[in-house]
Amino acid sequence: MRAVRTSLVFVVLLFAVTACAGGGRPVDLANVTSVPGPSPVGVEENPSQSATSTAPAPPCDPMASFRPPASMPTPGQMPDGSTMRAIQDTGKLIAGVDQNTFLFGFRNPTTGSLEGFDIDRVHEIAAAIFGDPNKVQFKVVTSNNRIDALEKGEVHVVVRTFTANCARWQQINFSNTYYVAGQRLLVDRQSNVTSLDQLGGKKVCAAKGSTSIKTITEHQAKPIPVQVDNWSDCLIMLQQGQVVAVSTDDTILAGMVAQDPNVKMVGDRFTQEPYGIGIPKANVDMVRFVNGVLAQSIADGKWRDSYDKWLGRTGEQAPAPPAPVYLPE
Ligand code: GLU
Repeated sequence: MRAVRTSLVFVVLLFAVTACAGGGRPVDLANVTSVPGPSPVGVEENPSQSATSTAPAPPCDPMASFRPPASMPTPGQMPDGSTMRAIQDTGKLIAGVDQNTFLFGFRNPTTGSLEGFDIDRVHEIAAAIFGDPNKVQFKVVTSNNRIDALEKGEVHVVVRTFTANCARWQQINFSNTYYVAGQRLLVDRQSNVTSLDQLGGKKVCAAKGSTSIKTITEHQAKPIPVQVDNWSDCLIMLQQGQVVAVSTDDTILAGMVAQDPNVKMVGDRFTQEPYGIGIPKANVDMVRFVNGVLAQSIADGKWRDSYDKWLGRTGEQAPAPPAPVYLPE
């Protein structure tokens, strides 16, 4: 019985091999020129102004945050009744992060782990709460759902290239600034473009819900904003020639340059994007605690090591860590 089955398999294989070797051309050849290039899920061209605008906010200093406690609690012994104690009791810090932004929050394809400058900050907070940097549950959030995830209590913190600005301060709290980025432009290596001023009527990509898409939409040159869910979608659209530029923080663009030698970053910074860790509005004690963690990280050189590891490769001179600015008590 077994011999019969083996020879049957052999005959079928032989038939398959001869069929391939017969030189028969594949039928139904699609005319590739008529096939539109694939677009990322959720891509939207020229979104309505209301989709990118934010409610006017009273003026503020977006970099000013709450002063850390006079002394930090011992890891594993968070004060009774505090937000940090509630997190300690659940056993994991739930952190909203990105998995598509090389250098800041990305999935290492070899190890499957999330890594980057933002991910280092998450591990430092977990270490300060639990005495264990790995007591973390990562939740991937897009630029567009960072605030929602905090407001709904789905995450304890958002560490995701998150610009602190006055409009966002209306909805959530931010830690002290742990890095100051700035918006720039990314184009094909062959392109002569150096500024958004040259891109009137041309498609420029950024993530939905980012400060970058708002800046593109409001730019005097009137480029056509193309918004997507993930920054990696913008790089793919640039590679496929579906947009002529990507415009966002130089940090995110540096990650794209590191991934693709056919693209280049051009022009000067034209915005200032101070990164803060997003924390729900009610949890001021957690903001103070996180500011203590950031101050410690800067003081003991961990911030600098993390900067060198992730951003040192961009060749830019390491900036001094941002000095903390505190709100009046
Ligand atoms: N820093 C900008 C922002 O928070 C752009 C980066 C991003 O969306 O991830 O909107």
